[in-house]
Amino acid sequence: MTLDLTDKTVLVTGGTRGIGRAIVEAAAHAGANVAFTYRSSVETATELVESLGGPDKALAIQADAASADDAIASVQAVTAKWGRIDGLVVNAGITKDGLMIRMDADAWQSVIDTNLTGAFHVAKAAYRPMMKQRAGSIVTISSVVGVMGNAGQANYAASKAGLIGFTKSLARELGGRGVRANVVAPGYIETDMTAGLGDAADGLKGQIPLGRLGQPDDIAAAVLYLLSDVSTYVTGHVLHVDGGLAM
Ligand code: NDP
Repeated sequence: MTLDLTDKTVLVTGGTRGIGRAIVEAAAHAGANVAFTYRSSVETATELVESLGGPDKALAIQADAASADDAIASVQAVTAKWGRIDGLVVNAGITKDGLMIRMDADAWQSVIDTNLTGAFHVAKAAYRPMMKQRAGSIVTISSVVGVMGNAGQANYAASKAGLIGFTKSLARELGGRGVRANVVAPGYIETDMTAGLGDAADGLKGQIPLGRLGQPDDIAAAVLYLLSDVSTYVTGHVLHVDGGLAM
């Protein structure tokens, strides 16, 4: 069996950079029609569509993950173009770190709005078309931090832990309709989000059994598995892709 996504249509939120981009490229390489959202990188998004084979194969949608209207418009753009939505990858996420003593309510709320409520909006928008198709795969991108907690990331950890309960609930609601929902929980992956780790990265490596930070492609491979028909009996699962950090 191969991880073949031919004839499938996939929507990835936050697809211009880092992990989302690796997922977009891997899904396209596996044969899928791929739509992706982004917040502000218009030029990168346009170039990415071209590199994936142009507008017949790929669609870039400027959408704020925290907006319900943008989520509805994104899913409608996908179904209008390709007639269906087989895969949804809820990847867009932000951090606004700080110790609790200094974390203001805006830093708390904006991270929850984008990372967790954003997942609610886009999964709700995809819910009905997937139910009607009686098929679909939803993958949410949580984090090792949602499983273990992290000093200075109470807002982010809460959003990522929330995604796990949310996704398991979707798996229970939608299983009877042939729609699966799973979580990928990455460890520390080398992207713009972790670029500021600096020397702390060396300390982290010592805690990771595989002794290295991860690459976006490590996460894309796990997501591809969950989107593909190779995993049709897997739902409600949290797949840790973290070099063994959380176990
Ligand atoms: P990056 O910061 O490298 O990329 C973020 C992507 O999300 C960009 O494409 C960005 O678009 C998009 N984005 C950000 N905010 C919004 C928004 N409000 N609406 C729409 N799109 C948005 O992040 P990573 O690739 O590192 O992370 C991707 C996901 O993986 C996140 O959910 C993150 O929490 C999670 N994760 C990351 C880990 C890591 O170590 N890197 C570890 C564990 C989980 P634009 O280019 O327009 O800004």
